[in-house]
Amino acid sequence: MMNKIGEINFKKIKRISPSQFYSMKNCAYKSLLAEAFDKKPLLPLSPYAYFGTVLHKMLEFIAKGVIKSEDDFNAEFDNQVKTVEDDLQKNGFGFFVPLKVRIRNFGLKKIQLKKHLRSESDQPISFSNTKFHSEKWFESQDKLIGGKVDLVIENENNIEIIDFKTGAITQDCLDDEGESYSEVKNEFKEQLKIYAYLYFENTNKFPTSLSLVDSAKQKFSVEFSEQECKSIFEEAKSLLKSINHCINTKLFSANPQEGNCKHCLYRPACTFFNKTLETNFSFNDVLGEIKEVKKFQNGNVSVILQNGNKVLTIKNFDSKEFDDLNNNKNKQIRIYNIRRDATEFVYSATDTTMIYE
Ligand code: SF4
Repeated sequence: MMNKIGEINFKKIKRISPSQFYSMKNCAYKSLLAEAFDKKPLLPLSPYAYFGTVLHKMLEFIAKGVIKSEDDFNAEFDNQVKTVEDDLQKNGFGFFVPLKVRIRNFGLKKIQLKKHLRSESDQPISFSNTKFHSEKWFESQDKLIGGKVDLVIENENNIEIIDFKTGAITQDCLDDEGESYSEVKNEFKEQLKIYAYLYFENTNKFPTSLSLVDSAKQKFSVEFSEQECKSIFEEAKSLLKSINHCINTKLFSANPQEGNCKHCLYRPACTFFNKTLETNFSFNDVLGEIKEVKKFQNGNVSVILQNGNKVLTIKNFDSKEFDDLNNNKNKQIRIYNIRRDATEFVYSATDTTMIYE
């Protein structure tokens, strides 16, 4: 089916969340597009993102003490998976169902998550002076920054802010001597530092530690200084103001780089990215004029696109796409989420491929 992007109605972003800051800093235009489309993605998310919401919900329930036993865990896990799968079916992404087939190491991820449960019950909350706040909302006094902290643990001497992550927390880096080491991703460090300052604005106290916990219950500490937290907090606010200012001036800019765009779900509406597709063939998206549409005996459909002097072949479309593609010959289209074949300029459609005109 051929999709269309109508006129884009840009809207001011009222508030920035700590988890959004890093991506906003890398490409502010992405946040503007997300706001313009009411945060409804223009391309399907990966099944891992949907599964991530299950894992995060489970961590939240464990932290809140809603899930205490293994039986509770198993019942709620199945319930959460079913809810997500029903949603996927409803939204036309039934090909991701069942998730346990689509997600690599589904069983292992479930077992790892249970570790959170065991240690919670091994160490019951017996400190009467310790408070646990799960999913606690904090916002700045001017309401420009706000977000939910996964877990805050407070006692007389310590205040710890914990954020749960269901994906990789660290990335591999190289030091000056070329030795590799792993480090917590910058986006997570900055997110926690903004939470720390939000906490300070609301309570007049700084946390004593900032931590990230992954689904296998590994904990990573993030070092910070109060000054550093304050300056990232201020940076986030001025970024928000300057992004909103672009809407008045209509002088938009973007940062179309692989690291930013690969996972951006607003690519179809991004003129900067689509311009890049005219000359850059390293993405799993292509653009070009429809020159030929072929239907094979097995029902598969291939489309041949002309992009400048390059001829691109995209195979494996379903037969129901034939008429739509064939009726649009010589029209420029963009095809997103395709797989590159070993042969140069040859691609295959996937379950998540979408066509835009
Ligand atoms: S496609 Fe790339 S350049 Fe365009 S908004 Fe998304 S991240 Fe930014």
